[in-house]
Amino acid sequence: MSDPKLISKIPEGPLKDKWSKRKAEIRIVSPNNKRKLEVIVVGTGLGGASAAASLGEMGYNVKIFCISDSPRRAHSIAAQGGINAAKNYQNDNDSVYRLFYDTIKGGDYRSREANVYRLAEVSAAIIDQCVAQGVPFAREYGGYLANRSFGGVQVSRTFYARGQTGQQLLLGAYASLNKEIAAGSVKSYPRHEMLDLVIINGEAKGIIARNLVTGEIERFGAHAVVLATGGYGNTYFLSTNAMNSNGSAAMQAYRKGAFFANPCFAQIHPTCIPVHGDQQCKLTLMSESLRNDGRIWVPKKKEDVMKLRKHEIKASQIPEEDRDYYLERRYPAFGNLVPRDVASRAAKERCDAGFGVNETGLAVFLDFADAIQRLGHQRVQERYGNLFDMYEKITSTSPWEEPMMIYPAIHYTMGGLWVDYDLQTTIPGLYAIGEANFSDHGGNRLGASALMQGLADGYFVLPYTIGDYLSHKFAEPKTDINAPEFAEAEKAVKERIAKLFAVKGTETVDSLHKKLGHIMWEYVGMARNEEGLKKGIEEIGKLREEFWKTVRVPGTNEEFNQELEKALRLVDFFDIGELMARDALNRRESCGGHFREEMQTEEGETKRDDENFMYVAAWEYKGEGVAPELHKEELKYENIKIATRNYKD
Ligand SMILES: Cc1cc2nc3c(=O)[nH]c(=O)nc-3n(C[C@H](O)[C@H](O)[C@H](O)COP(=O)(O)OP(=O)(O)OC[C@H]3O[C@@H](n4cnc5c(N)ncnc54)[C@H](O)[C@@H]3O)c2cc1C
Repeated sequence: MSDPKLISKIPEGPLKDKWSKRKAEIRIVSPNNKRKLEVIVVGTGLGGASAAASLGEMGYNVKIFCISDSPRRAHSIAAQGGINAAKNYQNDNDSVYRLFYDTIKGGDYRSREANVYRLAEVSAAIIDQCVAQGVPFAREYGGYLANRSFGGVQVSRTFYARGQTGQQLLLGAYASLNKEIAAGSVKSYPRHEMLDLVIINGEAKGIIARNLVTGEIERFGAHAVVLATGGYGNTYFLSTNAMNSNGSAAMQAYRKGAFFANPCFAQIHPTCIPVHGDQQCKLTLMSESLRNDGRIWVPKKKEDVMKLRKHEIKASQIPEEDRDYYLERRYPAFGNLVPRDVASRAAKERCDAGFGVNETGLAVFLDFADAIQRLGHQRVQERYGNLFDMYEKITSTSPWEEPMMIYPAIHYTMGGLWVDYDLQTTIPGLYAIGEANFSDHGGNRLGASALMQGLADGYFVLPYTIGDYLSHKFAEPKTDINAPEFAEAEKAVKERIAKLFAVKGTETVDSLHKKLGHIMWEYVGMARNEEGLKKGIEEIGKLREEFWKTVRVPGTNEEFNQELEKALRLVDFFDIGELMARDALNRRESCGGHFREEMQTEEGETKRDDENFMYVAAWEYKGEGVAPELHKEELKYENIKIATRNYKD
């Protein structure tokens, strides 16, 4: 039985009719009433930009916030590989059901059927919407939109714009947003960071934000608040996320009563450029699309490994029969296109066994020699040219001549704020969309599905569902930002900032963040166990204490101060890290990206425990220094046969 505090509002009836049924039930707000209603959207990535543009066009008054100097510089711009949609353009028997099935299976049976089906259902409309906006998707010679494959599926359903899909999609959403900004329905607040959520009578009514240029702490009121603030992968310090990506807004909501779901489900992406030193602050993703044609391997012989590490031979000198294409060997049905969690663990397994190909022993090869021979230089250049250039600029090695070296790195967070079918959190009037919510990806997200989810939420789900809540609000007056709740929240923010300046220690924020990253990678990383997780929680606690004694935040609040911004975010990363470890400790099963060493098969594959853990773990904040309370939303699978994930045959 699900916890009574978690009412998922999944409509009754057959799966394929649920979304239509819900849409038919949702109360509509008439155009003259929409004009009276205000909505705050925090975040201008694909989730936030598409939601704000849609809400503005529908007639609501929208305020949109972001950290960067322009909405179009949100982290979504980094997305390379593509966006999925069940269009079946390749005539390879794709369908809404197959996309739904692949996503549930890829997520290791830990996501909600109804949400995932809706995602698959609206996926095709996203492509139409983006084409109408002018997004330059890749096309076949005849003019049709092109597709490629991504991990965990056997059809080609990924639409792409070379290696810049996120950028092109965001430019489309940004153009729509700008149209609304020009029309006056959306007001944009770049360089404004939300620092607290304001609750009045139990409902979300506004935010406190810091003007990042002047340091002014400002109040903003609305009838509803939407968080589209992205994921919390940067808890690990080194990740593929943009430097500004953070989990603070979600934590602010959590502390005010929004439950946080499945925090331990973090995705480790198999194809990143390996760590190359301790002065690094960012990891670079090599798009998953490369696994369409690239083959992953390590040498079979340890002596070749040693020679590679000493630079005595090059990869291309190792003969074919001495190479272990370990994904093709272990998972013949999917080969190099197994899902990310499976590919990452397999790379770790080979490197742990001593076959890592660089000096640190933490790298495997991604080789294009076959593809170049099969497809020719021109085709490979068209598909991956910019990714090859990027790799060469960073490593000084040309993938045209030698295979790339790759290793898994933190990339995406499946966990996030718990939301119901309407994408509303446990706080009425507070919604979470895109990577900020936990919704659709279970224990592991499939490639090219984050962009799909962000745009599904922003263009096609939230604009309808939020109407149900707002339809009860149009008679309410505008939120009064002089209310005591705003004053209280503003005071708390100012005190938090003052407390940080008061420490006057000697350590930089980054050096402490790096330490947190080491703890997270060591104890809450690719492989987790009970002892390590307990140790991790202890170490995070000690580091938090060290932070409050030793951190140095230079400058003042009344200026552009990125050290202050980072310090405020790091305080929240400590709490997220601890929550992730607690959740991982509780989930005594291996599932998707969450690998508990105690729970594995003889072949080293994940071992789920459906009897005891087929639920969404939603954590309720209980106060500083107090353990959070776990609530469980039971997951039911009525339209899909639960099975052990099999990518072998
Ligand atoms: C390198 C890379 C490549 C990827 N490639 C793909 C791909 O090919 N296909 C795919 O499907 N997915 C891909 N992903 C994942 C995908 O890009 C993200 O999951 C998705 O873009 C997240 O979108 P979002 O709108 O939820 O949040 P984001 O794009 O992260 O935007 C968050 C927004 O919130 C703002 N914000 C955050 N906190 C605050 C605050 N406190 N106050 C004010 N504003 C705030 C930020 O300024 C930003 O505007 C990739 C991810 C990475 C890292």
